[in-house]
Amino acid sequence: MNYISTRGEAPAVSFTEALLGGIAPDGGLYLPETWPRLTAPGIAAAAGQPYAALVREVLARFVGGALPAAVIARAAARLEETFHHAAIAPLVQLEPNLWVLELFHGPTSAFKDLAMQLMASLADAALAGTGERLLLLTATSGDTGAAAVRAFAGADNIDLVVLHPLDRVSPVQRRQMTTVGADNVLNLAVRGDFDDCQTLVKGLLAEPSLREGRRVSSVNSINWARLAGQIPYYLAAASALGGPSRPARFVVPTGNFGDAFAGWAARTMGVPLGLIAAVNRNDALARAINGGRYERMNAHATASVSMDVQAPSNFERLVFEASGRDAGLTRRLFEGFVRDGAVDLPPELLEVLRAQLAVVSIDEQATRVEIGAAWRRYGRTVCPHTAVALAAARRLDPQEGPVVVLATAHPAKFPDVISDVLGFTPAEPPAFASLTCGAERLVPIPADQRMALTEIERLLSGDC
Ligand SMILES: *Cc1c(COP(=O)(O)O)cnc(C)c1O
Repeated sequence: MNYISTRGEAPAVSFTEALLGGIAPDGGLYLPETWPRLTAPGIAAAAGQPYAALVREVLARFVGGALPAAVIARAAARLEETFHHAAIAPLVQLEPNLWVLELFHGPTSAFKDLAMQLMASLADAALAGTGERLLLLTATSGDTGAAAVRAFAGADNIDLVVLHPLDRVSPVQRRQMTTVGADNVLNLAVRGDFDDCQTLVKGLLAEPSLREGRRVSSVNSINWARLAGQIPYYLAAASALGGPSRPARFVVPTGNFGDAFAGWAARTMGVPLGLIAAVNRNDALARAINGGRYERMNAHATASVSMDVQAPSNFERLVFEASGRDAGLTRRLFEGFVRDGAVDLPPELLEVLRAQLAVVSIDEQATRVEIGAAWRRYGRTVCPHTAVALAAARRLDPQEGPVVVLATAHPAKFPDVISDVLGFTPAEPPAFASLTCGAERLVPIPADQRMALTEIERLLSGDC
């Protein structure tokens, strides 16, 4: 199985190259050269299987011969060790034809754990025996950094640097990043906002001195391995609800469109499903698909912080696929978007996109109303991201078949919003138990590339 770039000007690479490299050299994103297919009996047989077995099934098809089966099996088994629920991703019914897929039982109580744990295990194994080391850099507004730290802490062949805006992540998110005490992890707390962190990472990724003697990459969802690791839960839920003969509709809380694109991938592999991307008031994706113009705007701060994205990175993968893999068009559109800040999408492309995907934007007021409604109707506290998706799900007709809302984070990660709406804070999940003890390790720095570089060099030389 080889991987090609959405911009069509980079050589095809193996799964491990896509895993360790992240972005393609032509600036595009990697996708499999051909989509692996699941058979109808294979999909039906997935119902009720152990989650790790489905991970092995799916990943084996994407890894091809690049890594031994035992490496994939070890990665899948790691989920069973690190998650606090025997089903890994349990499906819970709320109403006739309405379910939530709980993706928050991992070590940092957000869905990013599912793929990050797999990616860390596969990447460390891919490097073992090559003599190479990998430096991963990532900017975070909270959830990605926490999931990455928990996944990569203690990896043998990988160093991880996470940059978060000082005092702008929640205390839980900060402790998830800073209390692991691993020598291969550096937390930089930047005096600035998330955009400052992202600018620093971009600059550091281009820093030649860091590349001497090692690979340098990033862990955000431009990495194909992250998305591949999210396909198994679509297969698990779709088959449990009667797929492929009874297709479910999935409502996905969406920021960078990584999670939703994994659903798109599952469908392309043969799992029949409907896809609804639920965004907050940062509605670039809704404007692009419903209005036809993809335009850069400043992100607004909302309660569903992990979805405060106005240039969803995986939109490029969607355009490539929906255009019949037209790399020339994809390159023109996304280079144009970077250059001009806006592009108009061709009508033929829009027609395909609208037939395959609905995008719904939910505002802050409706999000809060939904947090209240979920408590009253089901006795359930839901995180603001999940509430956005639940509010979007209300607009669907339950008569038309099963609807699955992806619950992407545990509500206790966002106690302020919940207590503001409901008047109490949600009970903490078992994963929080390890956070109260343990000294915090973080280095505050100004938003300055030289200062960041000095700290990273200290990490790499092993004297921090
Ligand atoms: C990252 C995140 C999202 C958005 O996922 P994308 O793959 O970026 O669309 C939604 N909810 C939570 C809780 C997240 O952490």
